[in-house]
Amino acid sequence: MHDATPASLLDRLAEGPVICAEGYLFELERRGYLQAGAFVPEVVLENPQVVAELHEELVHAGSDVVEAFTYYAHREKLRLIGREGELEPINRQALQIAREVARRSGALLAGNICNTNVYDPADSGAAAAVRAMFEEQVGWAVDAGVDFFIGETFSWGAEALLATEVIRETGLPSVVTLAIHREPETREGWTPQEACRRLEDAGADVVGLNCIRGPRTMMPLLGPIREAVSGHMAALPVPYRTHDAEPSFQSLTDPDCHCLPGDRPFPTALDPFTCNRYELGEFAADAYELGVGYLGVCCGAGPHHIRAVAEALGRSAPASRYSPDMSRHAFLGSDPTLKRRNLEYAKEL
Ligand SMILES: [Zn+2]
Repeated sequence: MHDATPASLLDRLAEGPVICAEGYLFELERRGYLQAGAFVPEVVLENPQVVAELHEELVHAGSDVVEAFTYYAHREKLRLIGREGELEPINRQALQIAREVARRSGALLAGNICNTNVYDPADSGAAAAVRAMFEEQVGWAVDAGVDFFIGETFSWGAEALLATEVIRETGLPSVVTLAIHREPETREGWTPQEACRRLEDAGADVVGLNCIRGPRTMMPLLGPIREAVSGHMAALPVPYRTHDAEPSFQSLTDPDCHCLPGDRPFPTALDPFTCNRYELGEFAADAYELGVGYLGVCCGAGPHHIRAVAEALGRSAPASRYSPDMSRHAFLGSDPTLKRRNLEYAKEL
């Protein structure tokens, strides 16, 4: 199945950081190819070239991974929009799009499974239903020849364990990450470090956190996880300025804005809270220093964030050719050929 042999995920992690761009749902919603609310990746079927282009942009910006856009392409979400009959085509198409970009660019190809929204510890049948949903998606990804699996955005630790088990049966490496909401624990009340330790014990190769929290409120959770696990760690925050009082991007409020369509900026009015590229770069460098080798950005990420992460980790991406050089700015620069009249006007800008 593997017709190209990029260094494996685990080989790359042994050598240095691995960068993974996530957050396709938000980016393609902004671009007008996907609907906020249900957040199903219908774009994969309707505008596949747009998905391929986004994968290309993110590799250009420094992502080492092309993640098949099968996030929320599961039975429960497709039922919600009346397209359950297209479950297999949407998965296979997403995998094929990602595969072409990965094989062309030398990036790793990742299969993806995520929170099902049907897991319920009080429902004795739920675990079997979740497992079946994971098994069908994982099977299609194995057929497509993925290099490893990402299981992500789990707020139930037990659901993440089910994902880990199903992935483990394939023999492929796994990155399994938890979504930690306002309370710094999983929905069943496990601390992030306890949950990650259980995932590692269950065979996950890389464990950690993704989505929900911005750099400032994800960082404090990473140290205790680092102490609790012995293997590789992942951290992929959302690029929003969450803070102690509003630690998740769903909990952010914007009292200065009176035109919000709902009761909160999430998910379509988070723009004023967006982190700049330097904040993501700083997060990545600090997390790497802490011992987190698998780094990226989730919902809200743009290519500029990914490039900043890559450069903060000492890497140069194809897009680094165009990284800022303000020395050549007409008013704020320092190039000796710049016009003095303009430079003197800089204080008037
Ligand atoms: Zn996300």
